[in-house]
Amino acid sequence: MADSLEPDDIRAEVRAWLADAWAPDRPLREWRADLAEAGWGCPTWPRQWYGRGLPAELGRVVAEELRAAGAVGPAIGVGMSLAAPTLLAHAPDDLKVRLLRPIVTGEDTWCQLFSEPGNGSDLAGLTTRATRDGDEFVVEGQKVWTTGAHHAAYGMLLARTDWDLPKHKGITFFAFPMRQPGIEVRPLRQMNGRASFNEVFLTEARVPVANVVGELHGGWTVALTTLAHERGLAAGLFGALPPSGGGRTREEARAEASAYLTTYEWYPQRAGRADLVPVRAVATGAAGDPVTRQVVAHLAATERTARWTAERASAARRAGRPPGAEGSIGKLAASTIAREAAAAHATIAGADGMLTGPDSPEGGIVAEVLVSVPGASIAGGTDEVQHNIVGERVLGLPKEPSVDADVPFRQVKVNRRGAKEDR
Ligand SMILES: Cc1cc2nc3c(=O)[nH]c(=O)nc-3n(C[C@H](O)[C@H](O)[C@H](O)COP(=O)(O)OP(=O)(O)OC[C@H]3O[C@@H](n4cnc5c(N)ncnc54)[C@H](O)[C@@H]3O)c2cc1C
Repeated sequence: MADSLEPDDIRAEVRAWLADAWAPDRPLREWRADLAEAGWGCPTWPRQWYGRGLPAELGRVVAEELRAAGAVGPAIGVGMSLAAPTLLAHAPDDLKVRLLRPIVTGEDTWCQLFSEPGNGSDLAGLTTRATRDGDEFVVEGQKVWTTGAHHAAYGMLLARTDWDLPKHKGITFFAFPMRQPGIEVRPLRQMNGRASFNEVFLTEARVPVANVVGELHGGWTVALTTLAHERGLAAGLFGALPPSGGGRTREEARAEASAYLTTYEWYPQRAGRADLVPVRAVATGAAGDPVTRQVVAHLAATERTARWTAERASAARRAGRPPGAEGSIGKLAASTIAREAAAAHATIAGADGMLTGPDSPEGGIVAEVLVSVPGASIAGGTDEVQHNIVGERVLGLPKEPSVDADVPFRQVKVNRRGAKEDR
């Protein structure tokens, strides 16, 4: 069939393909391999890389058709939402050949090895070092907050490869194999009882030179691509969940998604569970109290406004306009809503909000909201840093003073050094 960009033609084309190719009783990997080859799993990706080069609105048409057919889509998770777009934008072809397909099929999951004990907001100050040794780099250092490192096959690793260049210029981005002896992953227990992120210790860990993504020492540009996609994930979306229904393919996909999402089970609570606020206000009788009514109404108004702003941003994107100010405040809006929702839950539940167990408000969900919501203002870049970005890039305010951006990194005072010989 000739290439067409009409929604009805795309719909007909994907429908015809599904009628022929989709059967719900095949092994999941086999089905996803066909989906990847046909380009219908990731239709907005380029044609030579498991896609069809379609614009976002036609990508949605394809997704609708997959859903309508009850067909399983590509894998969900950090690999699809952060690693793949970064690789597509910056990786050499041989890395794309090796790494993209197992992301789509779900064989390889990924994690993000960016933050370090001394460097989160000031990410460009990172001190994990990678030293060339023949065809490989040897990596030494420590990462922290690494979500999902305990099951990841690969990490998006930022490491310093040149200490004589300024801080943003001596960093390299690696597609880093996680299953090797030089890596120790230690889960961190959070105050909500979960352990979704980890400390990752790198001791003489190795990564082939061929796994450099982008330019050597040019990893900062690559990292900015990952971070831009991460900010867009404020709502915690990782892709479409597998459809309901029987058959081996769907069952395997649901089992895979459910195992993967265990790490993220508390994310709805981190987002504040605003959906539960009016329900609980009515169920507990608190809705009769004028102060509580005001809190609930304010939350509903904030949420509605944020949704409209997000819709304006996606309408602008669909119309081909560059993302404007509304795109920059999505993450701030999400953490504002989370905090307001937690305050509303506390107003409604009072001291009972601290209780967990079967008799507690919503079986402990309210308590989990109260201790998880602070994470929303930190993950993916803190609110304060996001305020700086909006101030400088959207409002055009003067830049935050910087004393270390132009000097060789070796001369910069930092909290911590990745290896003893750095000084
Ligand atoms: C749930 C969760 C999951 C995460 N998952 C990952 C992951 O998978 N991979 C990964 O690499 N990282 C991950 N992170 C780490 C996250 O990106 C960092 O925590 C975040 O960037 C902040 O860094 P930090 O914790 O070092 O805080 P710091 O940078 O030390 O900040 C401390 C305080 O100082 C403020 N501050 C710092 N600089 C400025 C400034 N210039 N102006 C104003 N205020 C400032 C901050 O806002 C904050 O309040 C995760 C974090 C959370 C909460």
